Amino acid sequence: SLTYNQEFKDPKISKALVARIREKSTRPLRLMEVCGTHTMAIFRYGIRSVLPDTITLLSGPGCPVCVTAQKDIDAYVMLARRSDVILTTFGDLMKVPGSGASLAAEKAKGADVRMVYSIFDALAIAKENPNREVVFCAVGFETTTPTIAGAVLTAKAQGVDNFSIYSANKLTPPALAALMETDGVEIDGFILPGHVSVITGLDAFAPTFEKYRIPSVVTGFEPVDILKAVLKLVEQNESNAPRLVNAYTRAVADAGNPKARVIMGQVFEKADALWRGIGTIPNSGMVLRESFYKFDAARKFDLSIPDTREPTGCDCGRILMGLKRPDQCRLYKKACTPMHPVGPCMVSSEGACAAFYKYSR
Ligand code: SF4
Repeated sequence: SLTYNQEFKDPKISKALVARIREKSTRPLRLMEVCGTHTMAIFRYGIRSVLPDTITLLSGPGCPVCVTAQKDIDAYVMLARRSDVILTTFGDLMKVPGSGASLAAEKAKGADVRMVYSIFDALAIAKENPNREVVFCAVGFETTTPTIAGAVLTAKAQGVDNFSIYSANKLTPPALAALMETDGVEIDGFILPGHVSVITGLDAFAPTFEKYRIPSVVTGFEPVDILKAVLKLVEQNESNAPRLVNAYTRAVADAGNPKARVIMGQVFEKADALWRGIGTIPNSGMVLRESFYKFDAARKFDLSIPDTREPTGCDCGRILMGLKRPDQCRLYKKACTPMHPVGPCMVSSEGACAAFYKYSR
């Protein structure tokens, strides 16, 4: 007999699901996996190649590094250039080209940029270096933001005044609504993010679902999870009966994790945010509340960021909206490779271009 986890990797179950998808699918469908972790899993398990030609999978705006605006990358580079600052960041951000340089390039020139695995490592660095300012580059969705909020609360409680964050944190549901309002975007179903939903719950997606009536399924990251979601989306489309479904009940409760959301709400409030390629989305960003202003690097430092420009020829923004495939970007595999990335979609391990490059050969 299979253990609980094996069941979700079982090739026999996967095969049966593929057969049912092929049987049920009669018309072309464009399904978007919103989350970068799903993009990677779909490529790793070769899911695209087993699906019928009727089904197109699109990568969505759920790779945190990919959606970070050029302006925010430039702000990180400006912070790195200050001699009083130790800039701390997750590894994926290091190689994203800003309008001028990347953080990796600044580090090579001598800037004190340090890669961390957790914001709490950054907080520890701040305590060890009381005479320097330690700034953390905060990117990520609902999955990451509660931990960041926890670190800011800790910094406040412990009086670590030389610690701050520059927040480019974002919320997932407003991005889906923005996509649906964009000309040319055609989506017949959403594979909703599993990790984000652990925090937000299924309920957070209900307003968008009610408004646009696009079949939507929250699911996990194993092959059986993903194929199950595809099957449900095919069935809903074939029967013209859109639903919002939780197919990841082993991890996601309808109400999510209210405790994590309380911590997040204590520290952050919603604000309009700029997304790469998509533009400003109302109430889609998370900024520090007034009582935490002294931990806000955007307020602490004078950062007048000059006009920014996204890399010439990079189609990252259109790819994040499902309007283009990575191999339709004219720089793909030519000027832009994982060794020499032009845009963040090729840098991030969760980026659609990086996944395409790694697995489509
Ligand atoms: Fe941008 Fe490179 Fe992707 Fe083209 S292949 S969209 S240049 S990241």
